[in-house]
Amino acid sequence: MSDFPIIKPLHVGILQNIEKSQFVYGRHHGIKIEVPCIMFVIEVAGKKVVVDTGPCKPDRARQYHGPLIQDESMYPENALKSIGVHPDEVDYVILSHLHWDHCSNCKMFKNATFIVQKTELQYAITPNEVQKAQYEIGFREILPPWIDVLQQMQTVSGDVYDFLKGVHLISLPGHSPGLMGVAVETRKDLYLIASDCVPLMENWHGDARMRHIPNGLHIDLAEYERSFEKMERLGGIVLAGHDYETLKYKQYPPE
Ligand SMILES: [Zn+2]
Repeated sequence: MSDFPIIKPLHVGILQNIEKSQFVYGRHHGIKIEVPCIMFVIEVAGKKVVVDTGPCKPDRARQYHGPLIQDESMYPENALKSIGVHPDEVDYVILSHLHWDHCSNCKMFKNATFIVQKTELQYAITPNEVQKAQYEIGFREILPPWIDVLQQMQTVSGDVYDFLKGVHLISLPGHSPGLMGVAVETRKDLYLIASDCVPLMENWHGDARMRHIPNGLHIDLAEYERSFEKMERLGGIVLAGHDYETLKYKQYPPE
């Protein structure tokens, strides 16, 4: 078995009718797109690590957020099964941030330790009014999904190099206060699971006016810019949070 980590992206839902300017700041007003929700499995040194746990089921999404398609193959338990992973054998779940489409289904990982930035967990309790729905705060009938695993959580502050061998936690605030990317040194290349810091590759590639374009949903554009600069220094290949391009290969590095 190789000592190097392998990343497997899993397709766990499709967000529909998304206003594109909500993802690409100041561009594409009035254009609607649909985008995948992606959960990742990293296999490293005999450990299994999940990055993000996907969205809730479609009925709850429709009621509180917007239309979501999820066929049975996209249920997280089935997506995991398709690569031979049972939730009980997952050692760590790294939550890039606590927006609903990234941290539902936490409960299924009974034996995992959950890793989240401290600033994100603190903010998720009392988000600004405009971000409340993203965190599922303020709905009387439901609680935010991460509450189920509060006692399994371990917080980190800032970057953690070699969290596991070749797997680094990278603080990339801007979209949310404690957004965390995961940099993975594989046999071939360095990959960065960028989550909603880079929802679409278009955000990273930029255009004639801007080198990189922030997510339309953000908390702090100055921090966001520093996060982009940090990503430039880090180098490597960016895996976008909601882009079909991320699902192009069944694993990274591709075989
Ligand atoms: Zn988000």
